[in-house]
Amino acid sequence: MQDLPNMHDADAIPAEARSEIDRLFATGDLFRYHAPENAPVSVVEAEFAALLGAKYAVAVSSCSAALFLSLKSLGLPRDARVMVPAFTFAAVPSAVIHADCIPVLCEIGENYRIDLTDFEAKIDDVDAVIISHMRGHTSDMDAIMALCDARDIPVVEDAAHSLGTVWNGRNIGTIGKIGCFSFQSYKMVNAGEGGILITDDAELAARAVIMSGAYEHNWKKHMLRGDNSADLEDAFAKWQNKLPLYNQRMSNLSAVVIRPQLPLLAKRVEDGRRNHDHTAKLIDQSPWITVPAPLAGESRAPDSLQFNLTGMSDADVHAFVSAAAAEGVKVQVFGMSTDNARAFWNWEFLPERRELPQTRSMLMRACDTRLPARLTIEQCEKVADILTGAAVAVMSTTRAYGT
Ligand SMILES: *Cc1c(COP(=O)(O)O)cnc(C)c1O
Repeated sequence: MQDLPNMHDADAIPAEARSEIDRLFATGDLFRYHAPENAPVSVVEAEFAALLGAKYAVAVSSCSAALFLSLKSLGLPRDARVMVPAFTFAAVPSAVIHADCIPVLCEIGENYRIDLTDFEAKIDDVDAVIISHMRGHTSDMDAIMALCDARDIPVVEDAAHSLGTVWNGRNIGTIGKIGCFSFQSYKMVNAGEGGILITDDAELAARAVIMSGAYEHNWKKHMLRGDNSADLEDAFAKWQNKLPLYNQRMSNLSAVVIRPQLPLLAKRVEDGRRNHDHTAKLIDQSPWITVPAPLAGESRAPDSLQFNLTGMSDADVHAFVSAAAAEGVKVQVFGMSTDNARAFWNWEFLPERRELPQTRSMLMRACDTRLPARLTIEQCEKVADILTGAAVAVMSTTRAYGT
């Protein structure tokens, strides 16, 4: 059997990035608005927009910054209410608070997706919606868009960890008004830090560009695509000097690290999906493990594996985590690891706090383990053996001693 590599290592940066990094070092050309044109950040915006099939892209310092700028671009007033899933990363409700808005948490089902009953019950109480596609698990975007469109409520997609996921033939991030992505090291494209937002709306794009820190006429250095550049010119003229500059720009250094990874995305998605689906099928055979089925229409781009433990007590769950770790597979149970940033009860900074029993019970049994696209099938089979073996070891002990 093959040894498992360190699954927490990030992916190496393609060597092609080197020559551009050397050029930036030699010239000191790190600021996106330094050169008169074709700055790497502007080029990566054009390439990313083309890759996703969006008209406009604005590269920024993180996905959290992209979410913040999305809400600001939508012109939401102070104390506007923004629905966010109760299963997301703490940075998401934080971006809502940063934008002077109030997060309203929506229940999540055992399948990690938006509970549409709770969503519908809360929709008339909110002014905007952020959908986090957690680890690429896509909620029913047709139902969500129908409910929001009927009320003219804007949807922002938090696709931080979902680059490459497709919903009914459409790229995730292009379904709502704005889509936001992350280039933090554990996402599909690794620049250490970084984010980008995409939209087809010229007005939103122009507002986001200015607020991201395009002071004076630096917006002219953005290579924004678009069928109608007159729309954009009008939007920039309209908003010149009218908006705060939050200075959340991306540096050229990040852009040259991102660019050579974009052509690798399709293969990463394909390999990640192969690894995930193979491993998921194997562990799903265990009586103590369930992998939620994908929704029809969803095609994910996984670099990690999520599954639920069933029929286990809290003590069994802890024992399972220890047994898997002893064999080299680190598993995190979202609701059980201390101070987990994806457990809503740890978001003590929220202005309004409510109990969400369904999301809580899901988080207490939902496991997360990395499964990088670079693993071989044999290595994935070893991961599956370790996980199913750990469950058997724990549950046969429980049975034997009759707790
Ligand atoms: C990583 C992540 C974020 C935050 O991205 P940053 O670029 O680190 O700000 C937001 N939402 C989700 C779902 C994430 O996975």
